[in-house]
Amino acid sequence: MDVSRRIVLRFPSGITGLPVVYRLVKDFGLTFNILKASVSPGEEGLLVMELSGEQANYDRGMQYLTDTGVEIQSISQDVIRDESRCTHCGACITMCPTEAFSLEPKTREVLFDHNKCVVCGLCVKACPPRAMALRF
Ligand code: SF4
Ligand code: SF4
Repeated sequence: MDVSRRIVLRFPSGITGLPVVYRLVKDFGLTFNILKASVSPGEEGLLVMELSGEQANYDRGMQYLTDTGVEIQSISQDVIRDESRCTHCGACITMCPTEAFSLEPKTREVLFDHNKCVVCGLCVKACPPRAMALRF
């Protein structure tokens, strides 16, 4: 059975240089989509990614990460937009750290790319008509 999960990986200082994504792909046959990365050599780092593959391989990959010292946090919440409430004011565009919102130049509509969202919650508080909401 295949699984696909969005996870946050936190790298303590000292292991940020390890090629963990390469190992997840090569050794465990997983595929990935990096949603956000802020890792600098010798410092703590953060990686938000969607990871997919067979359940058994996924579990082995998670075990490898844990053994390596990487802290894993699964993203169990989700952020959704109530399209009927959005006024396309644009307040969310600049504050989203992953550029999940964009302005469609012709229609001036604010588009929401759900796949880029890392559920930080910033837009939920900032959206004037409360169109953005956390879903558990
Ligand atoms: S802040 Fe809210 S209302 Fe404004 S564009 Fe973003 S989602 Fe729509
Ligand atoms: S919760 Fe909102 S601000 Fe945060 S990443 Fe998702 S869309 Fe962007």
